[in-house]
Amino acid sequence: MGIEPPTVCSALPLGPVLAAVPESPVPQNGDSPSERSDARYSPRFAVQRVLVYGADAIGRVFLDNHPDLKQRLVAATDVEVELRAMFPPKTPVCYASIFTGALPEVHGIRKYERPVLTCDTLFDALARAGKRAVIVAVKDCSMDIIFRNRQIDYFTEEDDGAVLKRTLALLEEDEHDFIVCYNQEYDDVLHRAGPESPDAVAAAQRHVETFVRLWQATEERWAGQSRALLFAPDHGAHNTSGAKLGDHGEDIPEDMDVLHFWRLRPAAPTDAAEYARRAWDEAAEVW
Ligand SMILES: [Zn+2]
Repeated sequence: MGIEPPTVCSALPLGPVLAAVPESPVPQNGDSPSERSDARYSPRFAVQRVLVYGADAIGRVFLDNHPDLKQRLVAATDVEVELRAMFPPKTPVCYASIFTGALPEVHGIRKYERPVLTCDTLFDALARAGKRAVIVAVKDCSMDIIFRNRQIDYFTEEDDGAVLKRTLALLEEDEHDFIVCYNQEYDDVLHRAGPESPDAVAAAQRHVETFVRLWQATEERWAGQSRALLFAPDHGAHNTSGAKLGDHGEDIPEDMDVLHFWRLRPAAPTDAAEYARRAWDEAAEVW
């Protein structure tokens, strides 16, 4: 997006991820030098719009147990990135790292606590570069709290459904370069009923359907822009016994292993509306 990373960022560069995307605007072997010098082919300037869908607590083990859901994420995206959560795998610890590129000891959230971050974040970096960013999240959740006081927009909604509705409206208005759409129903339910309970699985299914809906909407609204769409959970979860039937916070694969899914598309070169219609049809088949 043509921005410098947050000053605290120590994460690996995204180049290898972007280069793995089949239709990536990042140069592939064989591109002519003139194409390579084109600003559109520079990884730093390639992406004009980004939407990050934060589906809380959808871990790798859960997706392995539900290949039907995983298959829909695969169909919607180009690249699957295997990641390990931060430790402890708690929501504010992990999302603070995702949006700073820093380890917990650097950004300061090392347990389940939700202060407003004082270190540099991706949202500060976006604002410095003149990009318009927005976080859409449910009232009182971590994502709604820890990134406050930045020069970005915030929408606080009553539930996940309202978060999706708001995000679709923002895409239609197209006044933001970077959108975070955060959902939490699966995480809420898994603590009460267990990560594989019918209620939790139904919630996860709604998250995947929301992602497919966002796939359709970004293709429709951003067809004329180069763009990235991410499915980006923070951690997984495991079964427990006792009053609560599910939890996360341990150094085990169920909690720590995460898959992120990336879709990256260059701007549709010619008839963006026709391109968007075809992309919508493609997404509808997966719905
Ligand atoms: Zn979480």
